[in-house]
Amino acid sequence: MGELGMSQLIDNYGRKHRDLRVSLTDRCSLRCSYCMPHDFSDWLKSEHLLNTDELMLIIENAVAVGIEEVRLTGGEPLLRADIVEIVSRISSLPNAPKLSLTTNGLRLKELAKPLADAGLERINVSLDTLDRGRFKTLTYRDRIDDVFSGLSAARAAGLAPIKINAVLLQGVNDDEAPALLKWALAEGFSLRFIEQMPLDAGGIWNRETMVTAGVVLAALSKEFDLVAATDRGSSPAEEFFINGTQETVGIIASVTQPFCGACDRLRLTSDGQLRSCLFSLEEMDLRSVVRNPELSPAQIAQEISTRFHKTVAGKLPGHGINDVTFIQPRRPMSAIGG
Ligand code: SAM
Ligand code: SF4
Repeated sequence: MGELGMSQLIDNYGRKHRDLRVSLTDRCSLRCSYCMPHDFSDWLKSEHLLNTDELMLIIENAVAVGIEEVRLTGGEPLLRADIVEIVSRISSLPNAPKLSLTTNGLRLKELAKPLADAGLERINVSLDTLDRGRFKTLTYRDRIDDVFSGLSAARAAGLAPIKINAVLLQGVNDDEAPALLKWALAEGFSLRFIEQMPLDAGGIWNRETMVTAGVVLAALSKEFDLVAATDRGSSPAEEFFINGTQETVGIIASVTQPFCGACDRLRLTSDGQLRSCLFSLEEMDLRSVVRNPELSPAQIAQEISTRFHKTVAGKLPGHGINDVTFIQPRRPMSAIGG
């Protein structure tokens, strides 16, 4: 279908939605403290999770209504037994969307090559520290070596670019920004720091102690010459050129410098709920549509389209984290998809 024939997901503030973040599971192999408590047990019901066919039905129809980019996430997406099949089926769609995946990297050693062969091009790996002890403190698991071997496997499989996401926590790893950047540059990875957001299941987020983008930038600027890049587009990361080169470091200042005005993202949870924002208090049920035996494929397509458009029409101008009326969503980050 040509550009003119394509449906467009434009909201009341003129934002065109092209990017769908798809959570494949709320389960995880780590327990990053800023995401979920180590004894977390409030999992989604397994019978509510979309199976491969249901998921594909939604993604196919999402592409038909204007989605051009899909990022697979979670929880930990590589825990899905059908992850390679999902990647392969999305990559084989007519009008296939750009496809990427965000992972903690633990299973990349065995999966990087099959994923690349199935059509995955780009990958984001989350790593907050280079220190084994700190990694264990932060994630409750002694598995930093699996992340490093996963990264090597991703590079060997030709996944590129490899982006690293890091969250800094006061008193835990907030002195590590320059070391992480030196490491990422030496390894050829592209590093982005993410401000901690009030989305964790344990409710530990605290505005007074969160490490702000300003603090990260100041720490990096002591060791690197950083110049802000101008053309940011809809990217959540503000990029800075390093030491006069074309290499960059990104800072995602979701809390202190919200970028909602350029947001082009929607989110699908692993139990089939469509959200217009990480911080939405409302969801649109797509699971009941793809599970309705009385609907024909054409009716399912029509209903999914309607529900995407309704979700976009209900999108608020901003996330409201900095408003006194802010309410943290009931679903934590791990069950929405980061
Ligand atoms: N498990 C995968 C991973 O860790 O990359 C994918 C899901 S995780 C929720 C996606 C990203 O969200 C990670 O980079 C993680 O650091 C980030 N994240 C989780 N909780 C966060 C929070 N409260 N504030 C900011 N970023 C958070
Ligand atoms: Fe798991 Fe990712 Fe959350 Fe860490 S940030 S607990 S790896 S979902």
